[in-house]
Amino acid sequence: MRLILLGPPGAGKGTQAARVAARFGVPHVATGDMLRGARDSGTELGNEARAYMDRGELVPDELMLGLLRERLSREDAAEGFLLDGFPRNLSQAEALDGILSQVAQDIDAVISIEVPDEEIVERISGRRSCPVCGRVYHLTSNPPAVDELCDADGTKLEQRADDKADVVLERLRVFHSQTKPLIAFYADRGLLKVVDGVGPVDEVESRIAAALEGAGVS
Ligand code: ADP
Ligand code: AMP
Repeated sequence: MRLILLGPPGAGKGTQAARVAARFGVPHVATGDMLRGARDSGTELGNEARAYMDRGELVPDELMLGLLRERLSREDAAEGFLLDGFPRNLSQAEALDGILSQVAQDIDAVISIEVPDEEIVERISGRRSCPVCGRVYHLTSNPPAVDELCDADGTKLEQRADDKADVVLERLRVFHSQTKPLIAFYADRGLLKVVDGVGPVDEVESRIAAALEGAGVS
């Protein structure tokens, strides 16, 4: 199964991707997580990406494509993958087609998770994550059992630097201008399934499962 999750920042892509990837036994390829990993370990790519991420802008395509090509060439992605955060603009989508056609593969479905901007701002301002295991919480809708400590390993949860209000507005602007056109791009190819992302996490998961079933992905 080769699947793309589209949606604005904070739509719940990562939350849902973890579930869908586990169900289908494919890797969850989240370019934002990969970039944060590179940034935090101080690699050359991470250092180059840092300033763009801090400003809420897209990291240049050349950097992203090298990263993605390497990730998809790994053995665990041979039978499928779930992309979260990639592609983010039309040229990335076209480049992805090129990468996949070289190995005679195709995207099976694209799920667009829709959430209005007002709710996005609320979700992102309450988002906290574990710096050790990456698990994502929300202070009110999905809090950890104890204070702001990770349920899995007890680490103090952190807020992403780019989840501060001014950067969130820029990320939303970038989504509307650069990423949203991908909805029409994939709809034209008959791959798009739109899912309402508002409601409890389990309910959104069921909607995605139904959309995938409707797309013949199982
Ligand atoms: P994305 O990967 O699209 O940026 P996340 O999965 O990190 O989004 O979710 C953003 C925030 O919203 C997190 O704090 C998460 O716990 C919360 N969240 C995710 N899904 C829902 C939902 N259906 N309802 C309310 N909050 C949600
Ligand atoms: P995310 O975790 O998906 O919200 O991504 C966090 C940040 O990483 C974004 O605001 C961008 O700066 C960068 N990023 C993630 N994926 C991409 C991509 N496909 N293209 C360009 N920049 C990206």
